[in-house]
Amino acid sequence: MIARVSLELALRKEFDYSIPAELAGQIEVGSRVQVPFGSRNLLGVVTALAEESGYARLKPILKVIGAQSLVTPKVLTLARWIGDYYCCAPETALKSVLPEAVRKEDAGWRERLLVRALPANGEFPKLPQRQQAVWQVVEERREILLAELVTLAATTAATVRKLEDRGLVTITSEISERDPYAHEVILASQPLVLNSAQATALEKIKQAMAGGNARSDTTVAGKASTFLLHGVTGSGKTEIYLQAIALALEQGKGAIVLVPEISLTPQTVERFKARFSSGPWQTLVAVLHSHLSAGERHDEWHKIRQGRARIVIGARSAIFAPVEPLGLIIVDEEHEHTYKQEESPRYHARDVAVMRGQMENAVVVLGSATPSLESYFNCKINKFTLLELPERVGNQKMPHVRVVDMRQSVRDGKGPPLFSPQLKEAITQRLERKEQTILFLNRRGYASSLQCPKCGHVCGCPHCSISLTYHRTDPKLCCHICGHVEKVPLVCPNEACKNPAIRFAGTGTQKVEEILGKLFPQATVRRMDADTMKRKDDYRRVLGDFRVGKIDILLGTQMIAKGLHFPNVTLVGIIYADMALHQPDFRAGERTFQLLTQVSGRAGRGDVEGEVFVQAFTPFHPSIQFARRHDFLGFYEQELEFRQQLKYPPFSRVALLTLKGCHEEKVKLSADHVRSVIEAKILGATTPTSGLSPERSGTRILDLTISGPAPAPLLRAENFYRHQIMLRTRSMSALSRELAKMTQSLTLPEDVSLVVDIDPVSLS
Ligand code: ADP
Ligand code: ZN
Repeated sequence: MIARVSLELALRKEFDYSIPAELAGQIEVGSRVQVPFGSRNLLGVVTALAEESGYARLKPILKVIGAQSLVTPKVLTLARWIGDYYCCAPETALKSVLPEAVRKEDAGWRERLLVRALPANGEFPKLPQRQQAVWQVVEERREILLAELVTLAATTAATVRKLEDRGLVTITSEISERDPYAHEVILASQPLVLNSAQATALEKIKQAMAGGNARSDTTVAGKASTFLLHGVTGSGKTEIYLQAIALALEQGKGAIVLVPEISLTPQTVERFKARFSSGPWQTLVAVLHSHLSAGERHDEWHKIRQGRARIVIGARSAIFAPVEPLGLIIVDEEHEHTYKQEESPRYHARDVAVMRGQMENAVVVLGSATPSLESYFNCKINKFTLLELPERVGNQKMPHVRVVDMRQSVRDGKGPPLFSPQLKEAITQRLERKEQTILFLNRRGYASSLQCPKCGHVCGCPHCSISLTYHRTDPKLCCHICGHVEKVPLVCPNEACKNPAIRFAGTGTQKVEEILGKLFPQATVRRMDADTMKRKDDYRRVLGDFRVGKIDILLGTQMIAKGLHFPNVTLVGIIYADMALHQPDFRAGERTFQLLTQVSGRAGRGDVEGEVFVQAFTPFHPSIQFARRHDFLGFYEQELEFRQQLKYPPFSRVALLTLKGCHEEKVKLSADHVRSVIEAKILGATTPTSGLSPERSGTRILDLTISGPAPAPLLRAENFYRHQIMLRTRSMSALSRELAKMTQSLTLPEDVSLVVDIDPVSLS
């Protein structure tokens, strides 16, 4: 027997190895193995088994990692698809389907050594004094952790081993599972009685799940179902997820729930654990996210692989969790951009979810209050099935949204205040009524930049084309792209100016916090952003304090925009609504609409109707006005028209090619070169395809639109200049294939690299 192995090198090539007799029967497709490669030993995954190889003199596999195959054949197929579609080496895709902690063997199970006293056998030996002291502790405790014993008896492991040699104790290793939520007490919850909109939606999902079941019994390859659950904030989407999961468990299948990293709060996780902590469908709920330690991630993953945890809840990469069989995939907040991985493989977890659902015949439910244009459009063309929850549960009204025209307040010549009189008044009222307020500003730090009023000099990052953000506590200037930090200058750094009155421009959350302190000295204010939420527990603690009413005003960045459910919040204030609008991205309008709707959704989730103040300098912008009226359909229709005119998604798919390098001229020339290669080899032929030899022609993409090259909106980042080419087509799979071919034969200067991003969500 031989095994074909994909190594952790992006070689786009697999290698054959022989299976030595002592490993026979232990190796299957998906096993992790260590193999010799050149002078090194490397790790890899077995992708196929065969009787013989076309190569002679194969080297043997050295060892197998883990008792079970780590990548299931289904996940292997999914990884292959990712490699093809997202135009990356299959090895890179394969690597991303296993968490680092599982791939590398070093973070294994945590083993603890346990010392146990053995029953006395014959005459008790006379022990040296030190051993006697240790024995006394063991005898008294009967069973004790080695580490504890060593401390307690002020001894060494070697001394304990001597007792073992004498047959007085045994030392055994036991696996202790790390549970990141071990200290929580979870109260069981029962299914709620659904309202009629919820019941209708769940019924459709159930029918599809039942259908899927029937199909897997017969040989008919059925069309898997994807649903888009469009429900306003607080409409009870989560309850539908929970009841659909119960059905999957009843069918003997498991479920994956994806939520954006940011909303993976203890609150969210608890709702899932509570429902399945007891009752007939009791199961463990595994949690996968980036704040777990390597060991915790290893243990959570194996709980899934062993089938003990049938439900997985996690961020982006949880889509690769080895749930088998898989009945249901839920993608909550499906419009969220954090589902896209911004490094290779640049996959979009929502799209991977839909693909995995099809491959494994699992039902996929995408949920959102503000669906992406792409998903909503997919319902219109009957690719997905639309389910709607147009109202909040319990007839709670949607909050009343007021747009405040901030241009009014600029006219007095002093620059805009942070708080309009209307918002100030509203906050005062809430403080008096002991109700809570959430304030939102999507920029951390104190001021967005430091600018000299005399010569106009702005302190910029030396590595990126962006201004430095001023941070006040522990004063420093900080680049939000590369992390560069420098001291705050006392005078204007422009040699010819040196004006001592250098000023701050723009506003960050730190400054809002300071001004809140002055305006409302009696209020308890907490700030939540990447600067204040550094430790693992910060988030949980602040939200806990907010829930029990210890905090009057919660101020934050997009960290507080979604998923939070606090009945006593009756006011939401958005400090600058237009901030996200002025970005060179065709999705800027969509993003603003989504953000405003999501943030507004935090208000009025209890008995008292909520109120939202949106402060804006472009108050009549359609994104702001549609959000004010809670009019998704209106927004969708006018945005769709704009996308159609410009051939943007969902009317095409985009591939963004970025050339990066330290020398701008070289980057620019390389970008021109890439464009000419695309024109010659991929662009639909404009003249009859007469002279093309078959091997040169490949697949011509007839509807390809090439834009650029042009400098990227953020021209320079981390010392690299960036030029971009945007490609648009409706046949992305074909384009990806052609791009993969092209990148392999392309010759670029040594210090210029090309990044291919399929379906990018950020164009900067
Ligand atoms: P969404 O996920 O759409 O924002 P949630 O699922 O969080 O909404 O529901 C909002 C609130 O309504 C939650 O407190 C939830 O427990 C409650 N809820 C949901 N469905 C029902 C129902 N059928 N009956 C009573 N309460 C419900
Ligand atoms: Zn920088």
